[in-house]
Amino acid sequence: MEAELLTVGTELLLGFTLDTNAADIASALSGAGVRVVRKTTVGDDPEAIAEAAGAALERTGLVVVTGGLGPTSDDVTKQAVARLFDAPLELNEDYLAELERRFREYRPDRPMPPSNRGQAEIPRGAVVLPNRRGTAPALWLEGEPGIAVLLPGVPHEMRPLLEEEVVPRLRERVARQDGAVRVSRSRTLRTTGITESGLQGALTELEAGLDPVTLAYLPQGIGVDLRLTAWSLPEAEAESELARAGDLLIPALGAHYYGDGDADLAAVVLERLRLRGRGCGLAVAESCTGGLIGARLTAVPGASDVFLGGVVCYADESKTRDLDVPEALRHQHGAVSEAVALAMARGVAGRFGADAAVAVTGVAGPAGGTPERPVGTVWLAARLGGVERAVQRRFPGGRREVRRHAAQAALDLLRRLADEG
Ligand code: AMP
Ligand code: MG
Repeated sequence: MEAELLTVGTELLLGFTLDTNAADIASALSGAGVRVVRKTTVGDDPEAIAEAAGAALERTGLVVVTGGLGPTSDDVTKQAVARLFDAPLELNEDYLAELERRFREYRPDRPMPPSNRGQAEIPRGAVVLPNRRGTAPALWLEGEPGIAVLLPGVPHEMRPLLEEEVVPRLRERVARQDGAVRVSRSRTLRTTGITESGLQGALTELEAGLDPVTLAYLPQGIGVDLRLTAWSLPEAEAESELARAGDLLIPALGAHYYGDGDADLAAVVLERLRLRGRGCGLAVAESCTGGLIGARLTAVPGASDVFLGGVVCYADESKTRDLDVPEALRHQHGAVSEAVALAMARGVAGRFGADAAVAVTGVAGPAGGTPERPVGTVWLAARLGGVERAVQRRFPGGRREVRRHAAQAALDLLRRLADEG
C-alpha cells in the first residue's frame, strides 16, 4: 500500500515553521506497512491544496494531509479536499454540542467564538476522528478518488490522532489488501563522546553482518545516533532483525553507548544514581553552562529523588564564596583549570551533602579566549562516592554549541564514573 503526504501552511513555505508533521507521519506510516512515496507542501490556498491532494490521490489513492483545519479564514484544507469528493459541508450537531461543552468547561466566562462553529461543519460521509486536545477534528474521507485523511496542524494534537486513530485503521487496511503487514522498522542506538568517523572505525568490520538491516550514522552535535532500519518485513521478523543488529553492535560501542531510541543522557545519569540506592544525591556546579545541566536534569520527571540542586557560580568570586574554592587556587591555576573544576565539584558536594557532583568551568566565547585557553576550552569534573575525575575538552562551534556540548560532556563524565564501580 502506498501513500503521499501533503502538509499545508504558508508558514511552512516561508520557513517559519519546521515541517515536523511530515516526518512524524512518514515514520508512523512506514511503521504501519504503508510506503510513503512522496511529500508535498503547499500554502494556505484552496486551489493549490485541491490540486496537490487530487494529484496525490490519482497516483496512490491515499493522501494524508495536515494543517489548515483551524477556525480562521486562512484554514481552507477541509473545503478544498471535500470538493474532490463532491462532499458538501454539513453542520454536525453532535460535534457542535461537544465543542460548545468544551468551551464552557475551559472558559465558562466566554461564549464560543462564532468562527469555531465552522469546525463542526463536516464533509458529507466523512468519519470524524475525535481530537481530545484541540477543536479541529481529524477527518477520514473515503470515496471515488480514494482515501484522504485530514489531520490538524498543531503537532501535539496531530501525533496522538495519528497513533490512536489513523495508524490502527491503516494497519487493518494493509492487512486486508496486502495479506500480511510488512513494515519498515527502525531502532536508534545513542552514543556520545565519540565522533562519527571514530564510530565508523569501530563498526566497519561488523557492518556486513547487519544485512538485511541497514545502518545510518546521524551526528547530532552532542552525540551520534546510529539508526538501524529493517525494511519491508513481517513485523516479528523486523523486530528480531533489529534486536540481532543491536546485539551485534552494542558490545563494539562500549561505554560510548548510553541508550536506545530517544534516551536522554540526563535521565540515564539519574537512573544510574538511583540504582546505587537510597541517598545518592546529585549536586551540580555550573559556570559557563549557567544552569543548562540543572535544566536537563529537572526536565526528567521524577528527578527529585536524586537531584538535590546546584549553584550557578558564574563570577569567579562566587566559586569561592558559594563553593569554597580557595582563592589561591583560582589565582594560581586560573578559573578554567583542572584544580578549580575539581574544587567546584568537591565544594558543591559538600554544600549539598551530595554523594555525586558534576562541575563545569570553561570559555564559552565569543570573547575571553587566550592562546593557552582558546574559546571552547572547558574543564569538567565529576565525583561519586569520593572518587573524582576531571577532563579537559575543547568544543567546536559558537557559544551555544560550546555550552550544549559542555553540559552533555559533564553528564557523560558522571555516567562513565558510575559505570566503573
Ligand atoms: P493549522 O492547523 O494550519 O491552523 O496549524 C496550526 C499550527 O500548527 C501552525 O501555526 C503551526 O505552528 C503548526 N503546524 C502546522 N503545520 C505543521 C507542520 N507540518 N509541522 C509542524 N507544525 C505545523
Ligand atoms: Mg495553518
